Amino acid sequence: MDKKEMKEWLELGLKFHGHICGGMPLGFRAGLLAMETLGVEREPNSTVVALAETGEYHLAGCWVDGIMLATGCTYGKGNMHKLFWGKWAVTLVDPRASRAVRVSVRPEALEQAFNSPFLQQRRAGVPPSEVDQEIARAQFDSVAEAPDGKLFQVSKPFQFEWKSPTTTFEVRRCAECGELAVIRHMRVNDEGKPVCASCLRSPFDYPEDLVVTRGPEHCRWPAPDKT
Ligand SMILES: [Zn+2]
Ligand SMILES: [Zn+2]
Repeated sequence: MDKKEMKEWLELGLKFHGHICGGMPLGFRAGLLAMETLGVEREPNSTVVALAETGEYHLAGCWVDGIMLATGCTYGKGNMHKLFWGKWAVTLVDPRASRAVRVSVRPEALEQAFNSPFLQQRRAGVPPSEVDQEIARAQFDSVAEAPDGKLFQVSKPFQFEWKSPTTTFEVRRCAECGELAVIRHMRVNDEGKPVCASCLRSPFDYPEDLVVTRGPEHCRWPAPDKT
């Protein structure tokens, strides 16, 4: 990817992400490096899968947006997963070839970023969009322009079996709330009728083989308001 194209993607990323920071471009660069090493293009469908070791509500979690931007693995398409390990590494999987690569951010690069003026303001409670814009832009640029080798360690491609669930088109109305739901996320109630997960007050109900994506307690949907 040439500099002009990268700049255009990063501008799009900024619009989507909402604020200037170092995390989003870091994920973007990691995604590009993973794609190049694995030999895949930006994913138009749901075939290539990204597994980010990131959690939620921690510093530099923003980088997942950059990974999505670069790789085309997105939450909407279902091929972006968080492992909730609180780490800055991503494994990009090509299930067609049973191959994957893992890109991790060098600890020195992270430590440097975490000691930066940007993070000092964040630690003091300043929301990312309200950090001094010169400081934010400097953080963004330093990540966007650093050589790959300074930011990342990248594995050789290795064997990795991954089977995504097939896309289902089967839907049903919930017997309780009447809303439409995807059948494989529904349960059968005592009367043998299909009931949606929110009416059963269940947490996210992923297929078994996607159980790794389950988040911590606070990620559960609240029970629907029945009033
Ligand atoms: Zn951010
Ligand atoms: Zn329901």
